[in-house]
Amino acid sequence: MEKPNTNVSLKMEANIVVMGTESVGKSALTVRLLTRRFIGEYGDIESIYSRNFTLDAREVTLNIWDSPYSEDLSVEASLFHKKVRWADGYVLVYSICDRASFNAISRLIQSIKSTKDYLSADKAPIVVVGNKRDLHHRRTVLSEEGRLLALNTDSLFYEVSAAENYHSVLTVFHGLVDRMKDARLAVKRPLRFKGIVKSMSAVFARRRTDSL
Ligand code: GDP
Ligand code: MG
Repeated sequence: MEKPNTNVSLKMEANIVVMGTESVGKSALTVRLLTRRFIGEYGDIESIYSRNFTLDAREVTLNIWDSPYSEDLSVEASLFHKKVRWADGYVLVYSICDRASFNAISRLIQSIKSTKDYLSADKAPIVVVGNKRDLHHRRTVLSEEGRLLALNTDSLFYEVSAAENYHSVLTVFHGLVDRMKDARLAVKRPLRFKGIVKSMSAVFARRRTDSL
């Protein structure tokens, strides 16, 4: 009897960058997604991780770029453009206990939207994440503020605790992948020249990748 062809599902590969100011939990979120664990201290991790996931019966390769925030604004600015060009989707993290980190997110969204051209019909694949939900007694940013920012910028919004919960973190990336599918930015298609250059730099970047 002939085996059914199981190789018909469309594979997807996407580059995701995790951004936000210092100590908001970018590394904690990334490491939680990849290992399901919360280690507590992460140092200045700079890495692009590549990992396969099965989401909605579809195999998805996610390349996730986590880097420390640089206080040197010129370094931050040049890296910012590199990240925005590289990425197909954006995880923008703030801490619900840090008002300045929230303010930085609105500026990031505007910069991303003006750096990368999105067709008006497509929603920019951005997810706004309010992290450290477990520290609600120290909260300075209301959930409604995060929700409103996302609504006004056509982004997704989640509040999570990387410290306490794996599933909420998974939901963030799941939501973003759905958004990217909608935007049809990350579905594999014949590579144009620009696409090949992009893939090459992703390969080189991955040489530095630590595997956790
Ligand atoms: P990054 O600089 O944005 O990468 O931030 P890190 O991931 O290194 O986290 C900065 C600090 O916040 C560390 O001490 C983490 O343990 C802590 N942290 C990260 N996520 C959470 C969280 O959800 N809740 C709490 N209470 N602490 C967190
Ligand atoms: Mg970090």
